[in-house]
Amino acid sequence: MTTALASLANLREHSGCNILYSIKSLPLIAVLEAIKPHVDGFSVSSLFEARLAAEIQAGQGSIHLTTPGIITEEMPELTALCTHISGNSINQYQRLVNANLNNTSCGIRVNPKLSFTDDERHDPCRGYSKLGVDINELSHSNLFSHISGLHFHTVYAATDYAPLLKTVEKLRHCLGDKLAALDWLNLGGGYLFADIQDNRPFIELVRQLKDDFKFDIYIEPGNAIVGKAGYLLATVIDCFKSDGKNIAILDTSVNHHPQVFEYQCQPELYGHDPEGAYPVILAGSTCLAGDVFGEYLLNRPLQMGDRLVFKHIGAYSLVKANRFNGYNLPDVYRINGKQINQIKHYDYQGYRQQWLCDT
Ligand SMILES: *Cc1c(COP(=O)(O)O)cnc(C)c1O
Repeated sequence: MTTALASLANLREHSGCNILYSIKSLPLIAVLEAIKPHVDGFSVSSLFEARLAAEIQAGQGSIHLTTPGIITEEMPELTALCTHISGNSINQYQRLVNANLNNTSCGIRVNPKLSFTDDERHDPCRGYSKLGVDINELSHSNLFSHISGLHFHTVYAATDYAPLLKTVEKLRHCLGDKLAALDWLNLGGGYLFADIQDNRPFIELVRQLKDDFKFDIYIEPGNAIVGKAGYLLATVIDCFKSDGKNIAILDTSVNHHPQVFEYQCQPELYGHDPEGAYPVILAGSTCLAGDVFGEYLLNRPLQMGDRLVFKHIGAYSLVKANRFNGYNLPDVYRINGKQINQIKHYDYQGYRQQWLCDT
């Protein structure tokens, strides 16, 4: 995480952008506290996230919110907690403005109608999208006389700036001089900043925008900050063959990293060697047949009690973890230099509490 934060600090210094941590990727309080001194605030997408962010920020940094899921009754509290809110629809924006007694800077989430993925499940610009106001509708509206800012977020795990350049070009083309009326522009998250070698296109873009329109620019990475910070440590608890292939059952499951199942992706594993002579299917403990991490190639056969480490799983893992099938949530450890300390342990009481009825 230190490396990721250092490369973001470098981007901020050279471009003049402000950095928010998108807490939905991992809202562990120890992580929020560790990130806080390195960012200008947090970005959130619900009432609970806003409350948590406000508690950690204690009045210091910015808190930006955008989500399709705001109920009118929550608006007074949300506007008290957040410094910036981007309405997801014109209807939601108008209700927010009416409820805004707190000087929250209110803007609009724009849907630039530019898709950068074939996977509709994470494409905010898919047909009939529920995310943001259509850029064409926005350009013909009279909203620019009162909105304070614009927000867009259109990519996931992008490793170059081409989508960002195209999106900003479209904004300039469709909205032109109207952009000068804004106080801020939020470019969203979705870029793996630390993995991008050449940051000049980003720096150039942000500088030019600031020059032309004199507004503040925000980015709100999640994955780029915590993705590489997380590891999942597992132990082999059974080994057998199935249809001739080696299966190792682990004391973890897709419960601890549901995206493996949701998106059918295979997490990276230390010890996997594309030339390895020992293929093994690593499977989770639950009764779900598809609770499988994937087939890996190792340099030695696995045995009972062997330890395995999946890497780069800090984002969207623990926050989605569940206790399906009655398997416990994972213990959480913090690695600090050479020190490793347990900071969280779940137990049967937590499971029981979840299913206990109030009355
Ligand atoms: C999820 C999300 C982010 C963070 O995305 P990452 O891929 O984790 O960088 C930022 N902004 C919005 C609006 C989001 O929905």
